[in-house]
Parts: sequence; C-alpha cells; structure tokens
Amino acid sequence: MRVIPVACLKDNYAYLLAGDGGDAIVIDPSEAPPVQAALQREQLSLRAIWVTHHHFDHVGGIEDLCAALGAMPVLGSQYDLEQRRVPRQTRGLREGDALELFGQPVSILEIPGHTLGAIAYIVAGCAFSGDTLFVAGCGRVFEGTMAMMQASLAKLRALPADTALYCGHEYTVANLRFAAAIEPESSAVQERAQWAAALHERGEPSVPSKLADELRCNPFLRWDADAVIAAARARGAADSTPASVFGALRSAKDTF
Ligand SMILES: [Zn+2]
Repeated sequence: MRVIPVACLKDNYAYLLAGDGGDAIVIDPSEAPPVQAALQREQLSLRAIWVTHHHFDHVGGIEDLCAALGAMPVLGSQYDLEQRRVPRQTRGLREGDALELFGQPVSILEIPGHTLGAIAYIVAGCAFSGDTLFVAGCGRVFEGTMAMMQASLAKLRALPADTALYCGHEYTVANLRFAAAIEPESSAVQERAQWAAALHERGEPSVPSKLADELRCNPFLRWDADAVIAAARARGAADSTPASVFGALRSAKDTF
C-alpha cells in the first residue's frame, strides 16, 4: 500500500491510499480538485472515501468527488452517521469494527475530544489521526472534555513506536515553538524544530512522523514526563494526573 499526501486548502492534508492494482481510497478530502489531480497523476481509480471527523475542512470535497466520479462508499464514525453531519456517509464505524483495505486489516480507534465522532484508521503500520494527534501537537478540544481527549491520545500513544503518523494539518513548525516553550531544555525538541524548519523551507510535508519521535517531542503525549508535569503545574494544572497535565497544556496552547 502506498500513501500519497495531498495538500489541500491552506494547510490541510488529504491522503490517497493506493493498492497495487490501481485502486485507491481517499481519507479526509477537504476539496476535490487537488485530490482529482493526484488521482490523475498517479493513474488511480477512487473506490471509497473515509473521513476521520465531520469538520468541513475534512469532508468538503465529498460532494464534488461523488458528482465527478460517481457514488461510492463514504465511511466515518457511527456517531457522525447518527448526527448526519458527513455528506453522503454510507457506513458508521465503531472501535473494533473489522475492515479491510487491499487485503490488509484496518482497525478503527474511537478518539473523541476534538469532536465527539472522531476516529483514527490504523492500517499497514500507518495511523491516520485527523485533528486529534498532530506532528508535535494535538487538536483543539471542541466537543469533548480534556480528560476524554487525553484518553484518546493515550490510545494513539499505545500504538507500536514505529507507527507512521499521518495527521490532518501541517502545523508542525508552530507546534514545535510551543513544545520548546514547555520543554526548553529538551535537545530532542530543538533538533526536531530544526528538522521541521528545514522541511518548511523546502516546502516539504512533515508527514509521516514516526510515533517514536512524537513520544520524545510532542508535549501532548508526554503528560507523565517530569519536565512536562512541572510546566503544566506552572500553567495552572491542579494536580499531576494525566488529564490535569494535558488540560493545562491544551489551555496554554489555545492562547500561545
Ligand atoms: Zn477538525
């Protein structure tokens, strides 16, 4: 399986997942034209659309893709199906549902917090995390609670360390500025910031990121690191529990 990142809108990513036979699915098509251009360039036929959550900058291209290429399966969470907030959704997914892509098993993680219907797709050593886990950061908590979001990030953190993370936005440079404010002594964060700046300079994406690198550099996965706990306590965390540490960091990032 090949993963082809497709830059959309200002800083969004859609992803084409392509099998050997020329078939592909797309994850989170926020707009149709760049996805169609990538399909054409790669000589791929689109067979299905998968979405991580209902936000417009993840589903905005569904109507146009179906109008241009014909109706096709549109997969999202069961919650979003019940809320009827993903265009043309045909199937609702829950954690543990069995799914297959190009002969490989796909697992679904329910990761509420950014939205209540957020899910991640895990396939072939890749995690598509939408706006829940970013490279060096995480999404805002719009619909859930801080504790809910932290529990969702804990599920992603528990994936194998060599998992390739593909997220919904290119926010990496800004995320690492915040990471450096939280852990100013961390050489891992400083090296990562230089890496991200160089990619940004060349106009290259920072996805995929290895989960192992996120474990070292992403403050939103480091609620049990001493330096992160101290930084969170200094920013109002009531105690050192993961939910409190995470909540204080997320609140601090909202106004950073
Ligand atoms: Zn979103």
